Amino acid sequence: MADYECGDQPGDGLYQCDGCGEVVDITDSSITLAPCSSCGCCSWLDRCSED
Ligand SMILES: [Zn+2]
Repeated sequence: MADYECGDQPGDGLYQCDGCGEVVDITDSSITLAPCSSCGCCSWLDRCSED
């Protein structure tokens, strides 16, 4: 299940594409999630930065 979708502003952290596993690093709370650059998926999972 997706934690976030395109257009959400999840805040600082790492988010992983639910479609292909691509990880994006959001560095500012004003940044919105865009469709995955690799597969176009709009579902993003919150990923622990400790990994
Ligand atoms: Zn993807």
